[in-house]
Amino acid sequence: MDAGRLTRRTMLAAAAAAAARVAPAAAAPKRRAYTPPAPHPAPLVMLDPGHGGKDPGAIGVSGTYEKHIAFATAAELKRQLESAGRYRVELTRQRDVFIPLEERVGIAQHKGAALFVSMHADAIADPRIRGASIYTLSDTASDAQTAALAVRENAADRFAGPAFHNVAPEVARILASLVRQETRIGSARLQRGLANALDQSLPMLQNPTRHASFVVLKAADIPSVLVEMGFMSNRQDEAALRLAEHRATVAAAMKRAIDAYFTGQAIHMAG
Ligand code: ZN
Repeated sequence: MDAGRLTRRTMLAAAAAAAARVAPAAAAPKRRAYTPPAPHPAPLVMLDPGHGGKDPGAIGVSGTYEKHIAFATAAELKRQLESAGRYRVELTRQRDVFIPLEERVGIAQHKGAALFVSMHADAIADPRIRGASIYTLSDTASDAQTAALAVRENAADRFAGPAFHNVAPEVARILASLVRQETRIGSARLQRGLANALDQSLPMLQNPTRHASFVVLKAADIPSVLVEMGFMSNRQDEAALRLAEHRATVAAAMKRAIDAYFTGQAIHMAG
């Protein structure tokens, strides 16, 4: 046998044979049927349709509720992602029900989500402003507009009632500081991918990748982004988001970004 054929496998086989020769005969185990290792479950993508139930979210210029747009687009994205067969996909809410922000994070953590994508369509004072934007978590806001957006999105928990308000601000700050570096990198990579993909299909807000202290993005171990698909306060954005074809276009762009995220991650891990 030449040295090239002395692989790890052949050496292990030789070692096993030697071990078998010295093992007591009485201990010979029953031959077991070969069971292949359990396949890795497909990664779980947790989609989070914003608001719901008693919290309508933003109310559009013609009266559309953000919660309905968010849910309809999340359901469409779930359908598209599942059709590829590469992911498991769940929604933080299955119907028009109120769920506090930290509970949404908790659902994703409890289920072991690989990715968390919160979906929204905000309203803003200036009705001319339109376009999609993507947000990641940061202790400090990238700009005043995003700081105000985070205040509005975080304020969803004013509907939660006193039972939820038992997390001390210091605890919330510590939780924020525990956000791991890899999670930040993953979130930023998904954010860039979403911005590129959505830019091919939608009008975009100026500087569409922003950051602020969003409660719903505070999972320390799950790359998380918040997508504002457009502004309910802009007539064109609202009209577009009311159309199923447009929501399918938004979902298709988001799916391209999620596909690229996981492909990139696989390449990265193998390299
Ligand atoms: Zn929202």
